[in-house]
Parts: sequence; structure tokens; C-alpha cells
Amino acid sequence: MPSGILKTVFGFEAFRGQQADVIDHLMSGGDALVLMPTGGGKSLCYQIPALVMSGVALVISPLIALMRDQVETLKQLGVRAAALNSSLDYSEAIEVERAMRAGELDLVYVSPERLLTEPFLTHLSACRLALFAIDEAHCVSQWGHDFRPEYRQLTVLHERFPGVPRIALTATADGPTRKDIVEHLGLSAGRVFVAGFDRPNIRYRVTPKNNPRDQLLRFLKADHARSSGIVYCLSRAKVEDTAAWLRENGFTALPYHAGLNAGVRAANQDRFLKEDTMIMVATIAFGMGIDKPDVRFVAHMDLPKSLEAYYQETGRAGRDGLPSDAWMVYGTQDMARQMQFIESSDAGKRQKHVERQKMNALLGYCETARCRRQVLLDYFDETRPETCGNCDTCLEPVETFDGTEAAQKVLSCVYRTDEIFGAAHIIDVLLGADTDKIRKFGHDTLSTHGIGTEFSKAEWRSVLRQLVALGLLVVDVEGHGGLRLGPGCRPVLRGEQTVELRKDPVRKRAPKTAAAKARLTLDDPADEALFQALRAHRLKLAQAQGVPPYVILHDTTLVEMARTRPTDHAGFARLSGVGEAKLERYGESFLEVVAASAPE
Ligand code: ADP
Ligand code: ZN
Repeated sequence: MPSGILKTVFGFEAFRGQQADVIDHLMSGGDALVLMPTGGGKSLCYQIPALVMSGVALVISPLIALMRDQVETLKQLGVRAAALNSSLDYSEAIEVERAMRAGELDLVYVSPERLLTEPFLTHLSACRLALFAIDEAHCVSQWGHDFRPEYRQLTVLHERFPGVPRIALTATADGPTRKDIVEHLGLSAGRVFVAGFDRPNIRYRVTPKNNPRDQLLRFLKADHARSSGIVYCLSRAKVEDTAAWLRENGFTALPYHAGLNAGVRAANQDRFLKEDTMIMVATIAFGMGIDKPDVRFVAHMDLPKSLEAYYQETGRAGRDGLPSDAWMVYGTQDMARQMQFIESSDAGKRQKHVERQKMNALLGYCETARCRRQVLLDYFDETRPETCGNCDTCLEPVETFDGTEAAQKVLSCVYRTDEIFGAAHIIDVLLGADTDKIRKFGHDTLSTHGIGTEFSKAEWRSVLRQLVALGLLVVDVEGHGGLRLGPGCRPVLRGEQTVELRKDPVRKRAPKTAAAKARLTLDDPADEALFQALRAHRLKLAQAQGVPPYVILHDTTLVEMARTRPTDHAGFARLSGVGEAKLERYGESFLEVVAASAPE
């Protein structure tokens, strides 16, 4: 039954990754925690059981925009879905609740605030319930930046409705967050499904900053003249300036930051979703809950806060699996500014320490000579033995030196100082500094005191950051944020393994124009022309209904359509992403566009 629905409703041929296992597990009554990267296909894991199992499935979602998108997508598929949140008026809400009791809905999206009210819980007791899906489950964790205290009260679901299976889903899966989810949602008896975190369709590029605006412009003109994308900047002023500058240069670009009033923000976000060649220039206030699948690039004009943040922000690109870019310019000033941010924040001493170390891991990523994807995945404890061929260091290798001896000095210094100190102190010891702290701990008597005078402080910082990135040093985030020896350090200390380090902390050479581009274009110009015609047609259909284009059909479907040129309904129905509802609604008109472009 689930695989029948996969084709008839969603238009897909086969389950991806662990989807089938999760669905089976849920349908046999089990609880689950699903950790899958963005674009991994999490929604199907609960949407299909919701359609197969009797009763209504409740989806707890933290953001109204997200709910609206999901519900619209489902409606386009002919699924009986609704949302309950503060954007509905009283009578609309009453109607949704009536339909739930009458068994007329398969999926209802609800905010945690509403769900947790006593009247709503009482109402649920009168409904037949298929399952609970807790989306963006990392909101339960204080470690993430999206902490939502109400999520912690969701254990009430288990207490009040013990027989109803629960599934929690997230794309954020570092250890502490995972632990928090299991603990605070009472999922210890459930099964955990973890997918790899690689996003193979995203090309990672980090370029030294020299003239960032021009660099951005060159990047956009070369690869993304007609794409949707996000440009992240640190400050509101820079967001405004950059958006204006892009408009002057012929791009459609709008600003988004917390300083704009709510109406403007909502309108800009809405345009971003509904147009397909728009650039959103934004602070990190923008992005959470943006499910737009065809974001073709994410550009960072400033450093993000951490590698987790970088992974999340860049992860908004290419949800649909098509080639996409994560592009960043990075300079030493950014680093200093981020460090200042950390130092001047209200955070406690320990928190600051942790943030500093996280920053170092990010800098290590920026400076790495290794495949960026390997470094990124390593940080999330996922080992990837082979290089990716789809990041700048793979495509244009950087200059390195044999850093084995430097690494040995650092590692033994960390070891001799008991693996509890941060980078600054370790470097002081290596340089033979005479500080209070060094005297207090007697570190001036260590054999490693003063053995590293061949490098400057800045160079040692670069070495340490790279060692963190290589996993030879780990940041003790659960303790005080000091540096510990990583699992792989022994062979290095014994001289059995060499360590290659990147020569310059910041690359000086000019970036080459990308040899192979990550942009989405079809090889055959005739196919490309048809693809653009299909996009234009989709935009018209979307505008007539006031919905985002991607809820009509995804780019993936349009690309396939442009390549295979179906001539009849049967051919149209074979396209991935076309189920019965889409065939009926849109088959005819898209087939006309294809027919009109047929070569003579
Ligand atoms: P997530 O919530 O994990 O970010 P989504 O559920 O939005 O991911 O799915 C990402 C994309 O993959 C969507 O475009 C979705 O339609 C598509 N997708 C999901 N499952 C399949 C599948 N089995 N076959 C083909 N496409 C799929
Ligand atoms: Zn690579």
C-alpha cells in the first residue's frame, strides 16, 4: 500500500534511503527519531503513514510559513490537509476541528502553543489519531539556535495518548542535540534512523575576500544570472546596501532583516517564495522554515557563527537535489569581528569558551587544504574516505607544507598541559611566553615551553585551527571547551603519520573562474529553451493561484520534462513528481507547452 501511494499521490517511483524502513516502523506502532539532511525526504516518512493509517496525523511545526507551504503542497497533491495556527480566525479554526473529529482530514499541521492548550488536548481525545509528527525536533534543544521551550512540554503527547506512534524529525544532528531530543521528547524506547549528512549536490567554495561586492557580482553573473538564492550578511546596513547594489546591477534583490517591520518582511519573503529568479539579501533572521526547494545558491558575505550554522545556512540550497552552490568570501577581519562578538556578548565564561572553539573549527574549515566536504562531515562525526570532486579545494588544490613536526609540538603541548586549556594558552606555552597563567600552572617548566618559536602567534593559530579541523584536536564542548587530543593523534605523535597543512592562513592568489560550473543549465540549448518556457508557464499558473511555483511542479520535474518531451498523458504521468492530481490539473497545459516547442 505505501508504495502504491508513493506513485499515485506523490508521483515517485521508489523510496529513498531509509524512508521505507521508517514508514514500516511507524505503521507497526513504533516511535522514531529521524535525522536526515535537508532535502533527504523527511516529510514522506510521516505523510505516507498519515494517508495509509486510519485517523488524522498531527504534525507539530514551529513556523506558520512552513505549515502554509506544506499544506499547500499537500493540497496540490489532492491530500486532505489543513493547518491550525494563529493566522486562522475563530470560525476557520472551529471548522478544521470539526473536520478532524469527523475524520475528514488526513494531516493537520499545528503549532506547539496551540497543541498544548487544554481545550485542544481535550478535542484530540475526541479524534481518531493516526500519529504525531514532531517536525524541526531540534527546537527542543538548548544547544541549537532555534530553542523553543514549548517543545519540551510535548512529552504530554506520550502521556495522554500512549498508543499513538510518534516520529520526531530534524536535519540537525550533533551529539548533544540528539541526546536532548531523545531525552526531552521521551523517545528512548523508539528507533533512531540516521542518514548521512552529505549534500552531494552542493558545491562548497570559500574565497579570500578582497573586493567582496565585485566578487559576488562576478559569481552571480557567471553562474546564477537567472537563479533564486540567498546572500547572507552580518549587519542590517550591509543587507540594505548589498540588496541596493545588486538591484543597480540588474538583479531582482530584496532585503530581509529584523529591523524591517513585520509587514515588509512577510511581503519580501512571500515574493522570494513566489518568484523564481529572486535574490534575498538577509541576515540570519531569514531562513528557518524556508522550504523553497529551488534555492540555487547561498552566498556568505561574512562568516557564519559556527560550522553547524554554516551547514544549516548553506543547506538551504538545493533541497530538490539539483546542482547548487555554497559560496563564501572570508577575510581575517571577519574573524576578528566574530571573536569580538563572542567576547562582548552576555554569555557566561564557559559558553564563550565553547563559542570560541566552535569558531576555531569554522576557521579551520576556511583554511583547510583538504576536501571541504570531508572536513565538514568530519565535524559531524561522519567519515568520508574519498574526496568529493565538488568543492574548490578538490577542483583547485592549494599549496601545503609538511606540518608533522608542528602538529607534534602542539599535540604534546596539549598532552602535557592535561588537555584542559584552550588555543591561546597552548600557543603561549609553545612560544615560551611568561604569563600569570603559565607561572600559576608551572607550565614554564614543561619541555614544550618555548619549543615553537619558528612560527608567529597567527601562524600557530592557523595550525591549531587546522588540527581541530583534522580531528587531531577536539573541542571539549561538554566540559569547559578546552582542547583535547583527538582519536587519531597517536600515529602523528609517534611519527607514523604525516600531516599536510595549508600554507597561508588566507589564500592570496586570485580565485580562478570556476572551471566546471555548478549552475543548473541543460546541455542541449533546445532543452534549455524548453525548460525556461516551462518555468514561465509554471510561474503563470502559480501566480493565478497565489502559490509558490514549486508547489505546482518542482524544477526536477521540469528538467525531466524538457529532456524527455512527453507527448501524451501516459508520458506525462511517468515524470517523477507527477501523481494523479498533478496529471489531472496540469498535464494538459504543460503538454501544450512541450508540443509548441517541438522541433519542426
Ligand atoms: P526534507 O524535509 O528532508 O528537507 P523533503 O521532504 O522536503 O525533505 O523532500 C525533499 C525533496 O525530495 C522534495 O522535493 C521531495 O518531493 C523529494 N522526494 C522525497 N522523497 C522522494 C522519493 N522517494 N523520490 C523522489 N523524490 C523524493
Ligand atoms: Zn571536495
